[in-house]
Amino acid sequence: MVDVDLAIAMSPLSRHQRLLEAARATKGFMPDDEGLALAAIAERATLAGFSSIVEVGAYCGRSTLYLISGIARALSLGAAPAVVFSVDHHRGSEENQEGFEHHDDTLVNRETGRMDTLPFWRRAMEAAAAEDLAVAVVGDSHTIAARWNVAAGLVFIDGGHGEVPAWADYQGWAPRVADDGWLAIHDVFPDPTDGGRPPFEIYERALSSGEFEEEHSAQTGSLRVLRRLSGSDSASRSSPQGSDPSTNS
Ligand code: SAH
Ligand code: MG
Repeated sequence: MVDVDLAIAMSPLSRHQRLLEAARATKGFMPDDEGLALAAIAERATLAGFSSIVEVGAYCGRSTLYLISGIARALSLGAAPAVVFSVDHHRGSEENQEGFEHHDDTLVNRETGRMDTLPFWRRAMEAAAAEDLAVAVVGDSHTIAARWNVAAGLVFIDGGHGEVPAWADYQGWAPRVADDGWLAIHDVFPDPTDGGRPPFEIYERALSSGEFEEEHSAQTGSLRVLRRLSGSDSASRSSPQGSDPSTNS
C-alpha cells in the first residue's frame, strides 16, 4: 500500500491523467474513447458548478474512474468540489451471471458463491487515491432512485440492460438530472444487430420527452449524451414513480 502511495506521489502525471491511467487498468466495459467522452462531460458538469454526479452501474470502477478524472480536471481549473455517487448492488446484471456472455468467475465470492464486485470497486478507488471523489451507494438502483432527492449535474446510466431494469433506471434517474445538467446513456445501439434494445429505447424516450436535447458532439461509440433543457420541469420530476418495488409489487 505504501508503494502505491509512493508511486502516486512521485508520478509526473497530473491527477486527472493518473485517474485516466487507473481507469484504463481497471476491469470493465468502457472503451477508452467512450470513457474520455464521459470524462469530458463530467468535467463540463463540474465546471458548470454542479456538485454531484450519479453513476448507475459501477461494476469494478472503470467508468467511475473516467468520470472522476473529469472532475479532477475541472478541479485543477478552479471548479468547486464535486463527487460521483456510484450506484450498484454489486451482484452483477443478468448478463454477468454464470452461464451468460459477460460472466467473470474471478468476481464470485468463494464463500457465498455470489458475485460481489464491491471489493474490486473499492480497491480500485483506493489504489487510484480517489476516495475523496467517489462515494459507493450500494443497493438496488430503483429502490435508491425512488428516494433520491438531490439533483445531479450528470446522471450516467449503465446498469442492467434488460427491459425492466433499463426502463426503471430511466424512470427513476432521468428526473434527477438538474436543469441544464446531462443525462448520459451507455450501450445505445441503433442497429439491433449490434446489441440489445432497451438502452436505445430509453434514449429515444428521453429525446421524445421534449425535456432533453442531444449533445451530438459528445456521441462516441455507444455513448449518447443528452442535456436537460432549462425549465423543462415535468410532472415526473417531482415524484418519480414506477421505480419503487415496495409500492408497485
Ligand atoms: N459502468 C461499468 C459497467 C457496469 S455493468 C463499466 O464501465 O465498467 C452493469 C452493472 O449494473 C453491474 O455491476 C450490476 O451489478 C449493476 N446493476 C444491474 N442491475 C442493477 C440494479 N437493479 N441495481 C443496482 N445495480 C445494478
Ligand atoms: Mg456499458
